[in-house]
Amino acid sequence: MTHPRKKGTLAAASAAMLLAATVTCAPAAADEPCRDAYAPPALGNVKLKGVPGMRTDACIRARAYSDWARGDMYDEAVNAFKTHWDDEGTRSGWQNEYWGKTMLCFAGAIAYTGDPGLRDWAVGKTHAFLKEYQHPNGYLSTYAKEDFLRKNPESPDALTHWCFNIWGRKYTMWALVELARATGDETCRRAAEKMLDHLIAQLRRLGTPIDKTGSWHGISSMSILRPVVELYRDTGKQEYLAFAKDIIRGLDAEPAGPGTIMRNAFRKDKIKDWYPKATFWAKAYETMSCLEGMVDYYRATGDKRVLDAVMAFHDHLVKEELNPMRSAGFFDHFLDARHRANGMTELCDVTHWIRLNRELFLLTGESKYADHVEEAFYNAFLAGVQPDGRWGAHIVRSHGTRHLSAPHQTGMLEHQCCPDNMMRTYFDWAGTVAGIAPDGTLAVVLYSDADVSLPGVSLSLMGGYPYADGPVTVSVRRDAPGKIRFRVPYWSKTVMVNGKTETPSGGWFQVDAPAGASSWQIGFDLSPRIARSEARQEAIPPSPMSAGHGGDINKYTVHFMEWNTPDMAGLSRSTPALQVFRGPLVLAKGRMAGTPRDETLFATTLFDCDWDVTLKTLPATPVTAGVPALWRLTFKRGVEEHEVQVSDFASVSNIDDPSNWFSLWF
Ligand SMILES: [Zn+2]
Repeated sequence: MTHPRKKGTLAAASAAMLLAATVTCAPAAADEPCRDAYAPPALGNVKLKGVPGMRTDACIRARAYSDWARGDMYDEAVNAFKTHWDDEGTRSGWQNEYWGKTMLCFAGAIAYTGDPGLRDWAVGKTHAFLKEYQHPNGYLSTYAKEDFLRKNPESPDALTHWCFNIWGRKYTMWALVELARATGDETCRRAAEKMLDHLIAQLRRLGTPIDKTGSWHGISSMSILRPVVELYRDTGKQEYLAFAKDIIRGLDAEPAGPGTIMRNAFRKDKIKDWYPKATFWAKAYETMSCLEGMVDYYRATGDKRVLDAVMAFHDHLVKEELNPMRSAGFFDHFLDARHRANGMTELCDVTHWIRLNRELFLLTGESKYADHVEEAFYNAFLAGVQPDGRWGAHIVRSHGTRHLSAPHQTGMLEHQCCPDNMMRTYFDWAGTVAGIAPDGTLAVVLYSDADVSLPGVSLSLMGGYPYADGPVTVSVRRDAPGKIRFRVPYWSKTVMVNGKTETPSGGWFQVDAPAGASSWQIGFDLSPRIARSEARQEAIPPSPMSAGHGGDINKYTVHFMEWNTPDMAGLSRSTPALQVFRGPLVLAKGRMAGTPRDETLFATTLFDCDWDVTLKTLPATPVTAGVPALWRLTFKRGVEEHEVQVSDFASVSNIDDPSNWFSLWF
């Protein structure tokens, strides 16, 4: 694959770059847009290297350039608009989302690679698609029945509740917005406007507010907020802003209910307790999609209550839902994931947890949000994408034989919700490596190997972080003297800067940099850290599970730990355990780290003791050649000592092989 590079691709300029006005926001009524703390690089000005770069290139090759991607995969997404399979009988499926999700990934790939051939292919296909399937009134959906916008809204039974008509239209419209930005193609932008004009007019004609459509009390439909705000930004049309405000009304409506996540965010009780049947209603993917839109709405309007609500919800997620793979949620629901002995995270949720934290980071400049991006990417995300980049996991698990590889879904063979989201996450990562503040300060945010240019400054990162032992070399070239802020992750209490130990402040260390070239050696404290799981003993029922779980959380756990993977039978945990971290990496035992199976899956937990832990880097062996780093982890307490070979969680677990084994629990 060749990637001719193009400087200054408009597409990658984030929402923030396109709309910058004031640093301090005015009250909501003024609709005063806010300026982000950091503007990200244009995607075309980032080249990822190291492990993230290899994996990004593999995913682009497999999902944007391969014959399969441009043949069966693309054709099946289009075909859904011809068959109206979603509409039939009781299906009300979500084939509607796949064209949009596929083309959102292509839009990112066009921006990242700058390849005119890729651009021409995607624009040509999109024009043909629009010509054939967009109705003269703007409607564009796999649902033949235009006015079918909700089914049985109170039913907690999926088949009598689901309706993804607006959810899928969101993805199609969003892809058209992003394709227009990536390529400058006006036909795409006009088609997106027609879709939104139609939706606004349709809801008015029916007298149905958006929070009374779709699934999960309107949450699936209201997640359209993000592309609505983006289209408002691109066109300046006041009716789009008015529609965005109506979505905020729905999210904040009185009386409060399961769909009023903005109002509920300020509650003190746990998210799982907001719903009568949390295993059905407490849906993570759709909710986090709404939160991302709320951040962008704040950016466009300065409505502080909206941002306060997102931050309050984020606090809930960190305290209750941060799972051991460092994503949020428990198999796509908010079920107190932080306190469960079995970790399960849907890859769509990883994508959207990263996107939410990235938005909050760019907006506020707070280092803690970048910490979440980094940990989710290296652990939950890289565990869930298969190394050849073509497919990925639906559920990433804390331990066992394998993650649940994305199964056939909603009548599709070449698409599944999670792999269709994967590629975007690499671009979200690329757009978070560094940023530039309004005063020209360069922020170095992520430290994996990469080359980046931003207005007035370029930088190169080298050193094999976070797998290698040594410091990261940051080579900077500035047009004029200025400041550099190095992000210091929460786990590194000090930072070595050119050989001198320094103390960070608020997650950053700032230096003055001259005009021209300068070089910085940045070293973090990578000594291993031990963390006791906050999980409690769980009453795990015996396996194999009979069908269904009836909303019982322990049955739910076993059901989805074993779903489609009979080799997982009997591997659900009932006891809490220890976790060990090195930098942003979750360490894990596993076959690929050379840990024996019994020791990986069945060793007695070290939970009840206070251990000192040390880590020694080991040379790779033929067995461990597939992992980027190998360590001997030693637990010591008085004369008692345990040794185990480990690598990072993602690298020992990201193969779909029932004869594999891994565990992040000690
Ligand atoms: Zn998914």
